[in-house]
Amino acid sequence: MSAKTILEVRNLKKYFPIQKGVFRRVVGHVKAVDGLDFVIREGECVGLVGESGCGKTTAGRSIIRLLDPTEGEVLFRPGEQEVDMAKLGKDGLKRIRQEMQFIFQDPFASLNPRMTVGRIVSEPLKIQGIGTQKERMSRAGALLEKVGLSASQMGRFPHEFSGGQRQRIGIARSLSLNPRFVICDEPVSALDVSVQAQVLNVLKDLQQDFSLTYLFVAHDLSVVEHISDRIFVMYLGKIVEIADSQELYESPRHPYTEALLKAIPIADPKLGRRREALEGSVPDPSNPPDGCNFHTRCRYATDLCRSEEPVLQGQQGNPEHQASCHYQNELQLAGYMARGAG
Ligand code: SF4
Repeated sequence: MSAKTILEVRNLKKYFPIQKGVFRRVVGHVKAVDGLDFVIREGECVGLVGESGCGKTTAGRSIIRLLDPTEGEVLFRPGEQEVDMAKLGKDGLKRIRQEMQFIFQDPFASLNPRMTVGRIVSEPLKIQGIGTQKERMSRAGALLEKVGLSASQMGRFPHEFSGGQRQRIGIARSLSLNPRFVICDEPVSALDVSVQAQVLNVLKDLQQDFSLTYLFVAHDLSVVEHISDRIFVMYLGKIVEIADSQELYESPRHPYTEALLKAIPIADPKLGRRREALEGSVPDPSNPPDGCNFHTRCRYATDLCRSEEPVLQGQQGNPEHQASCHYQNELQLAGYMARGAG
């Protein structure tokens, strides 16, 4: 894997104002994303994982500027140059979309039902003024073949395809401009379990063929297990753990990661499929708890956790594995592998 950093996010925040009354006075903020710092290296796939409402989709959308960040820097380095995505104007964003693309969660809502598949996949080329009509259609056909569909299906409409096929069309569209970096926003969560693995395999193959870097957003650690090189775990607008994928599954350092791992169903020959559901729900992001924001659900919480916020930091002797827990060096947390064996 190349060590070159393709994306560096510094103190990224996205707050949504809460307005009340006739004059729509701002009475507070929903802190959906509250100070993210991380780097993504060229060619890797990073899984961004957390429950619904933890801010992961908002983070992805703020990075690519489908949402305007409240604060922070998003330094994108697709080539020799560096751009701060957070500060780009309309023209700059249009240019940078050639390098950074987004795959939407819902393959039903994200495709224009009145456009043929050929037009949908070639549309980004048209918007950027690239190629002739014939060249654009030729590229669309080649991309459809790449995602496991057929160029002969270009004249059909989205409703003639299954959910999995529609997501393949969405993937083909996201690759039409030959981007370097793709944000995949829960691309398989709306699909049947039987189809999920097929689409994940397509994404994995395309990453190799097109030398892509992925930020892969998911609410479930089981989905990202086989596709991610590293995983960022997010809770209540903040990253609480960063680790190499295998290491995270084997030896998590944050109790929230441990709880997410316990929620993955495992096949047990005696008991069938078993899993431990996460207790409680994500607190209100407009009024996060004091101290460690996970303390209201953490089985290891102490008085220190309720009063002092832990910092995301590397482990002793392993700076790449970071967690924001006061007790990350003392707790012996159960990994997924240990559960499977136990
Ligand atoms: Fe749990 Fe305390 Fe660690 Fe937070 S700091 S995760 S409450 S043990």
